[in-house]
Amino acid sequence: MRAAGEVDATAGMDAAAAAAWLRGFAAEVAARRDELTELDAAIGDADHGINMDRGMQAVVNKLATAEAGGGAGGEVPADGASSGGSGSEDSAGEAAEAPLGPLFKTVGMTLVSTVGGAAGPLYGTFFLEFGKAAGDTASLSADGWAAAFSAAVAGVQARGKAEAGDKTMVDALLPARDALVAAAGAGASLGEALQVAAAAAADGMRATTPLVARKGRASYLGERSAGHQDPGATSSWLLLETAAAAVRGAAAGEADPA
Ligand code: ADP
Ligand code: MG
Repeated sequence: MRAAGEVDATAGMDAAAAAAWLRGFAAEVAARRDELTELDAAIGDADHGINMDRGMQAVVNKLATAEAGGGAGGEVPADGASSGGSGSEDSAGEAAEAPLGPLFKTVGMTLVSTVGGAAGPLYGTFFLEFGKAAGDTASLSADGWAAAFSAAVAGVQARGKAEAGDKTMVDALLPARDALVAAAGAGASLGEALQVAAAAAADGMRATTPLVARKGRASYLGERSAGHQDPGATSSWLLLETAAAAVRGAAAGEADPA
């Protein structure tokens, strides 16, 4: 496992950084579980934090099994921790070669199978499509990450049929995608691109507050859904924040207690 201080802010996302992202997202979801659930209590059924926490804990367990060289989670590429954390050049070299597609596909399948409700299949689809786009790539640059993220968001929209302004996670994901694609196109590093994408997701998340929900459980409330921030848009903002943190390595200490 790469130490926090060794993460290169200008580098792409390899399997070790991807694992740091997933652990960081799981940690943030766990820390904000009650907050996410309270948002869902206002316009849904008070389970979004519980759902996401259950799913991401299952993902973290799967990563740990894979890194320990276990069979069940063997589809997830280990990132070098299985060598006893020696940090030898050999194990670091192997980790750098690990394809990202299978890792993210396993994450997607784990979420689909462990999270009920709307968000599980939607986040599951996000990671399945992200993995499909990443394929055999061992490290995603800003361009590659933007392409995988775009495919992932398209998958969420194909599955949930939500458009911009429907007061869903899509309202955080779409502006993040646009910011990522623009930043990558302008030659930004992955770290820089994720930073602006996370800021765009935060704006999109806040902008859900006055909206009337047109998709999901909150839509049953009609006009009464206005005045509350969407829980799924909030967890999607965390998804971007933790990706930015994993790549710049600043939050790697929290994200990766190993
Ligand atoms: P459930 O609504 O089944 O209880 P969660 O509470 O875990 O599931 O997730 C609710 C969140 O899911 C909402 O805040 C919204 O962001 C998102 N969501 C619901 N339906 C859709 C949809 N059709 N497309 C995109 N996102 C959706
Ligand atoms: Mg709910």
